Amino acid sequence: MLEDARAASKGQRSTSVSPGFLVPCVWLHSTHANRSLPHVGVSILADSPPVREYFSTNASEATTKFGAACTAAKVPVESILHPLTAPDGSPLVVSIARLGALDASRRLLVLSAVHGVEGFAGAGVQTGLADQTRALLPPDTSIILVHLLNPWGVAWNRREDHENVDVFRNLLYHDHPSTPDPLFDEIDAALDLPHWTDPARNDDTRQALAARYGVDRLIAAVRRGQHHKPRGLSYHGQGRCWSTKVLHDVVDRYLAGARRVAVIDTHTGFGPHGHGLVMSYDPPGSVQHQRVSRWMRGDLYTPGSDADIPAHPRTPYGFIENRIPGAEVTATILEYGTEPPEITRDLFPANAHYHLYGNPRSPEGLEVGVRYRRFLYPETDPWKAAVWTRGLEVVTIVLRGMSDW
Ligand SMILES: [Zn+2]
Repeated sequence: MLEDARAASKGQRSTSVSPGFLVPCVWLHSTHANRSLPHVGVSILADSPPVREYFSTNASEATTKFGAACTAAKVPVESILHPLTAPDGSPLVVSIARLGALDASRRLLVLSAVHGVEGFAGAGVQTGLADQTRALLPPDTSIILVHLLNPWGVAWNRREDHENVDVFRNLLYHDHPSTPDPLFDEIDAALDLPHWTDPARNDDTRQALAARYGVDRLIAAVRRGQHHKPRGLSYHGQGRCWSTKVLHDVVDRYLAGARRVAVIDTHTGFGPHGHGLVMSYDPPGSVQHQRVSRWMRGDLYTPGSDADIPAHPRTPYGFIENRIPGAEVTATILEYGTEPPEITRDLFPANAHYHLYGNPRSPEGLEVGVRYRRFLYPETDPWKAAVWTRGLEVVTIVLRGMSDW
């Protein structure tokens, strides 16, 4: 494990085998072009609160802060209640706000918490956007903020929703079920999530799988996901999950009439600490991928370059063009780095075990939960400041790109 960490600190790729083997042994370097903040029509207020105030420690606080920032900006907020509640009984809410004109032909959709607890980062950015970008958006442009799309996952410390559905993959596959990777079932059996904490359990099967296929192949099979094991990892769900239905409804009502739609979907857990990698899931040769690359001046990460970020056959946001006739869509993922993943590679199956088969409130479940959350939300002031700075930078770059689109 220490050797993994040392290799990671040098930016080297490690291929050592771990019993968990689900988080890749890789640490990225990026050229970080375009680090200075361009000013392209977004007004930044001088009397803003400290950046750390944009970020929250729980879903309820995030909803309150976002609502307060919108109210101060005289921006109405729509609240959609989730059918369940947070662990403390408080309501779970998706909040939607629009900055700019109702009938703008260009609309930027900014999403947080598609992957549940990863959403604290994007929610902080959204609160900052509501606070600081009150006016002077580029002409004929609006920003639609969808805050905590999967609020249950935020509140319950899971990337997945209340039915164990990975919402990102549900957006991709709800109407195009993927062909199962035959290796997934072997991995699922070897992981044996129901007995993850059984002291009699041995790792021989998993070690043998890793030796036979290689760690990256196993990671890729799991990360691509599946739709036939509802209590397994990376479950796509059957049909539209709750959050997908909400997003479809929001798109219908907030994007109707748009001609150009850009998407920034915020995530965490991959890349250099505090930096936000911009990705395009459109095929590299596509007009959309090339457009994002041009906007980012080539500082674009292409999925499929690493086992942890597998390529998918299409973007999760292609559905927007089907629902909004006449609209062209260009979607990006903004993925913030947290910790080197090789020191946390057992956390994903461990957290899944306690939520699906064990007790996440047990001392062992809580201990795993704290580490899992820290991996997806480091929650230090420097990290939050970096997340906000990069978030504003990417929003600004995309708005500038939309102006020329
Ligand atoms: Zn994610």
